[in-house]
Amino acid sequence: MSVTGGDETPAAAPDAVGDLMCSARRCRADAAWGVLWNNPALHTPLRRKVWLACDEHRAYLEEYLQVRRFLRGVVPVAELDRLPERDGP
Ligand SMILES: [Zn+2]
Repeated sequence: MSVTGGDETPAAAPDAVGDLMCSARRCRADAAWGVLWNNPALHTPLRRKVWLACDEHRAYLEEYLQVRRFLRGVVPVAELDRLPERDGP
């Protein structure tokens, strides 16, 4: 293993997402944000789980994760990778 120094921190990769619908319970609004989180007990350090959030629920989901120290960031949904679209209905 060679370490050459410098900034070689690998980038964390958020999970790909499917339908852009808010993850909050009973909410079916279009998601505007990807709330990125990681539970160190379950996930490798660079894993980023993604909860989708509409404008209304972004703060709620952020706070839920923050009190558990799982919150890693929030990005616009446009920056998230998408799962392949399924063909047909
Ligand atoms: Zn919502």
